[in-house]
Amino acid sequence: MNPPADPAAVATLAEWISAAERLVVFTGAGISTESGIPDFRSPGGIWEKYQPIMFGDFMASAESRAAYWARSKATYPHLAAARPNPAHEAVVQLHRWGKLDVCITQNIDRLHQRAGLPEECVIELHGNAMFVHCLNPACGARYTRADVQQVLDSGTPVPMCDACGGILKSATVSFGQPMPERETAEALERSRRCDVFLVIGSSLVVYPAAHCPTVAKQAGARVVILNREPTEHDSYADLTLHATAGPTMQALVDLLRPDVD
Ligand code: NAD
Repeated sequence: MNPPADPAAVATLAEWISAAERLVVFTGAGISTESGIPDFRSPGGIWEKYQPIMFGDFMASAESRAAYWARSKATYPHLAAARPNPAHEAVVQLHRWGKLDVCITQNIDRLHQRAGLPEECVIELHGNAMFVHCLNPACGARYTRADVQQVLDSGTPVPMCDACGGILKSATVSFGQPMPERETAEALERSRRCDVFLVIGSSLVVYPAAHCPTVAKQAGARVVILNREPTEHDSYADLTLHATAGPTMQALVDLLRPDVD
């Protein structure tokens, strides 16, 4: 259990956000653990149960694709049933108060949008798990993940594209898969232009996503890291809060409310 965030640190963050012209929020799996979705690297996290399936293996081997879809079939219902928590809701509140430039997320769960953040306020660096794409570049058909779950549930172990028979994969970025160019460029640009950059729940070890706070810092922004444990980026952060995301973000919006409501 983490101690509650230091109230003085939350007050400093509130002051900086109050004065900010362009706030960027950058989130990782840690913002969604309070919604019941395990992160990768904490005890009990996903890497204790599964090994990553590399994109090259997925493309090269039917066996890997079968393993991928078996795992996806088992984990998707949990992801789809998860609900946003107070940290996601606090980010929406910052947006409603006109405080948020953009939320850059590494998450694939769409909980920011499901909490009410408009699509144009979210940059998904690693795609999302609610859609499935045909990987044949001449086709590119898109399906909802919910429809593909029905195909899996009906006993098909490896779904194929209805339109062209091509390989299907969730619209997420797997290890070894190229990053989406537009989203990556946009995320780096927004990081460069912000004046406060707030990390919530990320170990900041996955690149190129973890370049964003460095770029923000180098361009003169205040970098704040809210994460249960220290990260390798803490050394240059202007403020670190080693605390739980939900209650800390709730305390932050409670402090900001009288100024902006
Ligand atoms: P990570 O597992 O490497 O790090 C998560 C960090 O969050 C840890 O340092 C942990 O201490 C912290 N944390 C966990 N719960 C917290 C809480 N309630 N409050 C504050 N901090 C908390 O995850 P990452 O940095 O996002 O990077 C890994 C990759 O994980 C990303 O690419 C992402 O696509 C993927 N991922 C996403 C989800 C999701 O969409 N919810 C889930 C698992 C993994």
